[in-house]
Amino acid sequence: MRAYLDHAATSPMPREVREAYLDALGVVGNPSSTHQHGQLASEALETARDRIASALGCDRAETILTGGGTESINLAIKGMFWARRRAGSGPVILVAAGEHHATFEAAQWLAETQGATLLEVPIDATGGITPEALAHAIAQAGPDQVALATLMWANNEVGTVQPVAELCAVARTHGIPVHVDAVAALGQERIDFAATGAAALSVSAHKIGGPVGVGALVLGRRTVADPLMHGGTQQRARSGSQNVAGAVAFAAAIDLALDDRGEPWAERIARTRVLRDRLVSGVREVAPEAVMRGPGAESRLVGNAHFTFPGCQGDSLVFLLDAAGVSASVGSACQAGVHETSHVLLAMGVPEDEAAGALRFTIGPDTADSEIDALLEALPAAVARARVAGLS
Ligand code: PLP
Repeated sequence: MRAYLDHAATSPMPREVREAYLDALGVVGNPSSTHQHGQLASEALETARDRIASALGCDRAETILTGGGTESINLAIKGMFWARRRAGSGPVILVAAGEHHATFEAAQWLAETQGATLLEVPIDATGGITPEALAHAIAQAGPDQVALATLMWANNEVGTVQPVAELCAVARTHGIPVHVDAVAALGQERIDFAATGAAALSVSAHKIGGPVGVGALVLGRRTVADPLMHGGTQQRARSGSQNVAGAVAFAAAIDLALDDRGEPWAERIARTRVLRDRLVSGVREVAPEAVMRGPGAESRLVGNAHFTFPGCQGDSLVFLLDAAGVSASVGSACQAGVHETSHVLLAMGVPEDEAAGALRFTIGPDTADSEIDALLEALPAAVARARVAGLS
């Protein structure tokens, strides 16, 4: 059996979600149609939307279903920027340093083509964004110059969970709306949109066992975002016929990942933490030279373990582990088949040669002990070979 330790890339779809998805694919009708077929499709869609909204602590009217995390983030950042500029705000977008490429590239595009000015909010050595760093960036830009701020709930590479409500409170004292990328946090953290004070929040279904290409943007009632795509305006700020089966499968994945009706959520989280801690202590035992990166356990996603291996290249380790039946990741983006050194580690102050040896393991509550055993068995030889390759 192969070991799958890359849940942050995409997590396996559980049988219950597959069944709900397949059933919903049989629903005939466009939910915008007024006939009975359409109304039945609309009922399935809106029931799913209610479920997603309640899991995210927001209203159904605030829940825009999208084609995944990347679309949600683009709609939030570009849409909010355009709307705020029309309303007379300044051109500055505050972007935290360890953000996902979907955020960076969207903001960069606005800077290159739409007159935005980007100002980076630094992260600390654990990947954390402090309220002081955000306050300092706001003061540096001038509060009335800032159109919006965008930051992650939790970092997808090193697992740092940010003090989201505190950060939003800092921005709100200056009337600055905050978009939160909660893609990596969903499932592992309790997300309560209303309690955060955020203006918008992005999530994606496939990180919790739902389908790829399905996500949601929570757009607060008072948040205005111009649309990216024009058409039928089926949803506030988003046009296009709605994906009923995708929404039903997303809601089913939320039921399994977040619901307390079966196994309580807190127990699933505790189980994942025990597995992760076993993985971490096992890695430390078989590869004592590995350096754990990111925060301590109290502010790290429970499913995340991230190390750098001195003298090794992360992509060699991924290749060698893969050959031994273990799927893991370097964590950072891949451009044209070549892995970039992680911008997150570099922003945390990790020297480039050390950052090159990054390896991320991400698990879920159903990860088997045998998968961790397989990693611990394969790792020493993979590290030894990667180190030899690194010297040549
Ligand atoms: N944001 C974060 C933190 C992610 O980890 C990802 C996926 O890797 C995305 C956004 C993009 O989400 P999607 O794959 O649904 O487009």
